[in-house]
Amino acid sequence: MSNVLRNIPSVRELLESPPLKSLVNRVSHNVVVGGVRRFLDDLRGQVQGTTGINIPSASELAERIAQWIAVTEQQPLRPVINATGILLHTGLGRAPLSDAAIAAVDAIAAGYASVEVDLASGERSQRVVAVESLLTRLTGAEAAAVVNNNAGATVLTLAALAAGRKVIVSRGQLIEIGGSYRLPEVMSASGAVLREVGTTNKTRASDYAAAIGERTAAILRVHTSNYKVVGFAEEAPLTDLVALGRRHNLPVIDDIGSGALIDLVPYGIRGEPVAGQSVAAGADLVLFSGDKLLGGPQCGIIVGRRTHIERIVKHPLMRALRVDKLTLAALAATLQAYRDPQLAERSIPVLSLLATPLENLRNRAERLSPQISATGVAIAEVIEDESYVGGGSVPSQTMKTICLALTSKSHQAAQLAAALRTGKPAVVGRIKDNRLLLDLRSVAPKFDVALVEAVQALARPHAAPASPPEPNPA
Ligand SMILES: *Cc1c(COP(=O)(O)O)cnc(C)c1O
Repeated sequence: MSNVLRNIPSVRELLESPPLKSLVNRVSHNVVVGGVRRFLDDLRGQVQGTTGINIPSASELAERIAQWIAVTEQQPLRPVINATGILLHTGLGRAPLSDAAIAAVDAIAAGYASVEVDLASGERSQRVVAVESLLTRLTGAEAAAVVNNNAGATVLTLAALAAGRKVIVSRGQLIEIGGSYRLPEVMSASGAVLREVGTTNKTRASDYAAAIGERTAAILRVHTSNYKVVGFAEEAPLTDLVALGRRHNLPVIDDIGSGALIDLVPYGIRGEPVAGQSVAAGADLVLFSGDKLLGGPQCGIIVGRRTHIERIVKHPLMRALRVDKLTLAALAATLQAYRDPQLAERSIPVLSLLATPLENLRNRAERLSPQISATGVAIAEVIEDESYVGGGSVPSQTMKTICLALTSKSHQAAQLAAALRTGKPAVVGRIKDNRLLLDLRSVAPKFDVALVEAVQALARPHAAPASPPEPNPA
């Protein structure tokens, strides 16, 4: 056994080999030496645990180690072509940014920025001044604040306005969004006390009225973003809650979720609350996400009455939830596009994808299908199907879409899906009836070439290993 161990080349010898030498030049001497040591330690462990193992030649070992280090050097966060059809896929990072937002981030990222300095006066300023005026202009609210996400906006708002006191919520609106967000838990984390009223399917304004007492701090309405209560069902209209709040001097907080800034009915999306409409109906505070239907960076937006916003931004949690310069830059650029709804539709990817007519998707699919079939990896058929907006938005509505349905003689749909997921660029589709569907609803046309190339890459042997090669000496 010790003889076998002696056959393992030294770190110094391995570093002289061409593949590792070139890796040192590309990455760093220390990173490569560390990688070689870890690989050799692993190899020694395996040799000691087994008998009859042959150590590969020094050059083969060097090749394997170089490949292994190269894989570990890949960025953990990798770009993905989203062919799931789900426009706001939380697992894939929700909304892609507009070119203007990307340019704004790019311009700010490398240097310093006027985050909290008013350049005209040289004085210290508030962090959100840059976007507050855009948000108030677009929603008609008096004031605005921006935090890390909508969950943060909810915790902060409740902590600032209702800690230790009761907040009335309908039993039909105690939402869960993607497991880690459950409204009752979010509320208890804020220190506010949940006062449930009504039933799962019916809650009337009179139920809220009957629950108001000395310790009531606010009325919270929550948009049921990812489900719908249908049938024998009733919700109190926002205007009734506003009237009730006014009578008892209680703020009405409206968590609208997606944060549509414009009416999305022309895009075939019904029932999504629009931030400005909620403000106009009299909600004292309106909360929404920046990276859902708004189509911007991840953030949570709070708009509403100045007195409430002032209390909110002074709360100590504000500092814990504040956004960085990159988010502010991307959000400002995204909001600027909304000053002209046509510009918004043209430039904000989520809106452009929503607005794409079915015929455009079909034309692209018919162009791409022979290109994909020509790779020899799979046969691509053009089919019509349905897709979802997703991201906790628009539960019951589907959009018509066009997909490339891939089948392969040699591979199951799941194998094809795995190979594309681990390819470069990574492509994520969906499986239906043992076919891999690549849904063009969520693929911007600028990714068409890359999509075909990703399939083409699977035609080459040893393309895109699904996992790092094991340091297996056998
Ligand atoms: C999505 C959603 C949230 C959570 O928003 P994040 O930005 O993901 O934190 C909260 N409330 C509603 C109604 C939502 O739809």
